[in-house]
Amino acid sequence: MGIRAVVNAPDWGESHHRGEAKCRQPHLTPGRDHDVFFEDEPLALEICNGDYDGQICPRRTECLRVAMINKENYGIWGGMYSRDRLALRMRYPGMPERWTWRPPAEPEPPTNEEPQWRAAS
Ligand code: SF4
Repeated sequence: MGIRAVVNAPDWGESHHRGEAKCRQPHLTPGRDHDVFFEDEPLALEICNGDYDGQICPRRTECLRVAMINKENYGIWGGMYSRDRLALRMRYPGMPERWTWRPPAEPEPPTNEEPQWRAAS
């Protein structure tokens, strides 16, 4: 049986000395009739990383740390897509000091080429 380290989520609220997590502030996305953190990952990422309003979430570093330690496989955490968090974990396994924010990976460029199959000889 494996042992899985888990950290409790901190208080993301406004009383924390680093400030309130931006995902707890629905006034940041007025006029939207949905929770962008569940239904619009690209926009959620922009909110985390300040591309939306010029303010990086004050809790981004610890948010990423919590997600990495807890192996959160879904959603936006710490301003990163799940695939990018996975890539970070695979690149630096067991090295939490290297689990720091990185910009989203470029998506694979589309290709119209058919895969090249070699005929068996
Ligand atoms: S970095 Fe984490 S805490 Fe901050 S807005 Fe994004 S998901 Fe919420």
